Amino acid sequence: MATLDLNAISKSFGTAKVLHNISLAIEDKEFVVFVGPSGCGKSTLLRIIAGLEEATSGEIIIEGKDVSKAHPVDRGISMVFQSYALYPHLTVFENIAFPLRVQKISGSELNDRVGRAAEILQLTDKLQLKPGQLSGGQRQRVAIGRSIVRNPKVFLFDEPLSNLDAALRGDMRVELSQLHRQLDATMVYVTHDQVEAMTMADRIVVLNAGRVEQFGSPMELYHHPATKFVASFIGQPN
Ligand code: ADP
Ligand code: MG
Repeated sequence: MATLDLNAISKSFGTAKVLHNISLAIEDKEFVVFVGPSGCGKSTLLRIIAGLEEATSGEIIIEGKDVSKAHPVDRGISMVFQSYALYPHLTVFENIAFPLRVQKISGSELNDRVGRAAEILQLTDKLQLKPGQLSGGQRQRVAIGRSIVRNPKVFLFDEPLSNLDAALRGDMRVELSQLHRQLDATMVYVTHDQVEAMTMADRIVVLNAGRVEQFGSPMELYHHPATKFVASFIGQPN
């Protein structure tokens, strides 16, 4: 059984149809990258999975359960926002703990869950600092920590590295791949960067103008592009 099933998802904003009948089955513990040019609908699709946006039609199934109408907090999904979404006046500890406080989790359970996230992300000695005292990479890790504490079944990332400089971006790609192995979690990662997609993904979804052009492994896309668009986007002549 797939962990995350998208069943004929379509989305219109007014008269503009931005997602066309998207069906995908994402397996347990996969690292799947949605890649495509700016405006092709990547963020909209991710927001629909997270429950921050409603699909015009179609269903979202998590571990066999239809969550299309469920509240974002009840979907077993967590979206990692870019690091600038941290609370500047709160410590690293409180930034990571924030989703647990919202869920009224406190005491030793809260301490344990924040402590474990901090350990995984190597932030244990930074917990009393404020975000302004951290490097860009450390701030991004705090943003990821806020997702880890919720123990989601599926992590969603929307271009989490786009604000970082090239060197840090390279480091964070490696860190995120390690994190994926360490957490043994299902991850869906959005980027417009082909290199990021090719180096990080188990499988890649190539989106173009709200449609799936191809869903396959980096090697399949490279050697057997299904369409001219995939061939030119991935960088191999068809
Ligand atoms: P991407 O993340 O791939 O760059 P988006 O999902 O942000 O693309 O946007 C896909 C299309 O939907 C774009 O044409 C965008 O202008 C449009 N769009 C996104 N959000 C809204 C909205 N809230 N209202 C109207 N149009 C939107
Ligand atoms: Mg986007």
